[in-house]
Amino acid sequence: THFGFATVPESEKVLKVGAVFSSVATSYDTMNDLMSLGIHRLWKDSFVRSLNPGSRLPRHDIDNKSNGWNILDIAGGTGDIAFRMLDHATNINKDRETRVTVADINSDMLVEGEKRSLETPYYKSGRLTFMQANAESMPSIPDNSVDLYTVAFGIRNFTNKQSALVEAFRVLKPGGVFACLEFSRVSNNIFNEIYKRWSFSAIPLIGQVVAGDRASYQYLVESIENFPSQKEFRGMIQAAGFMIPGQGYENLTGGIAAIHKGVKP
Ligand code: SAM
Repeated sequence: THFGFATVPESEKVLKVGAVFSSVATSYDTMNDLMSLGIHRLWKDSFVRSLNPGSRLPRHDIDNKSNGWNILDIAGGTGDIAFRMLDHATNINKDRETRVTVADINSDMLVEGEKRSLETPYYKSGRLTFMQANAESMPSIPDNSVDLYTVAFGIRNFTNKQSALVEAFRVLKPGGVFACLEFSRVSNNIFNEIYKRWSFSAIPLIGQVVAGDRASYQYLVESIENFPSQKEFRGMIQAAGFMIPGQGYENLTGGIAAIHKGVKP
C-alpha cells in the first residue's frame, strides 16, 4: 500500500501526516531505536552538543546579564531534543534559566512528550512548555523573540517547507540561530546502496511487525527519499534570509542525516 503523496492535494497531505503521527505516537521511541539501530540518539546528542545551549551569548556580555536562552523546538514531538538541550544547559553550562518551548502540530505527540517530561527534572520547572502549533504559521510567537530555533526530523513532513523557514526567520532575534537535524543524502555509492536496501525493505517491515502499521513507515521512507539534498536545502535556508555559516551543513553517518544551520543577520 503506497501513499502516493506526490499526487494527493495539499490539504489531504496535511490530514495524512496527522494520521501518521497519531498512529505512531505511542510506539515512536521504540521504533526510532529499531529503525536507526539506536543511532538517532547519537545524532541528537551531537546536534545538541554542536549548539551548546545555555552558553553565554555575546549580547549578554553587552548588557551584562544572563537570562538564559529562549529556545523554540519545532516538531518537538516526544521532547527528545528539548530534554537534551535543558540537560546540556544545566549540566554543561550551569545555566538554569534557559527554557524550551516544544511546538508540534500533533496533540498525540505532545501528550507523549508531556508524559515523558514527568520523569525529567523539568516538569513544572517553568523551563519547559508544550504548545500545539503549525510551523508554517505561529502567530502566538512574537517577531525577534527566539535565540535558537531547532527542528529535528520534522521539516521533511511540512507541507510548505519554505514558509516554515520564513516563519523561523521571523521569530528569531537578530543573531539567533536556525538549526535543523534531518535525514539527508548519502554520498558514497556503495554505502547508499546498502542504506537504501535497509530503508525500503526493513523499515516498513519493522513497522508492520512491531507497530502493526506498515503504511505509516512506508510514508516515512518516502518522505526521506523526497527531501532535498544538503546543498538544495542550504539554498532554501539562504532564500529565507539566513546567513550561512561556513559550509552550512555537517553530515552525520556518511550523510544519512545532516545538521544545517543559518544565522539571522
Ligand atoms: N523532533 C522529534 C524527534 O526528533 O524525535 C520528533 C520528530 S517526528 C519524526 C516529526 C514531528 O513533526 C511529528 O511529531 C509531527 O507531528 C510534527 N509535524 C509535522 N508537521 C508539522 C507542522 N507543520 N508543524 C509542526 N509540527 C509538525
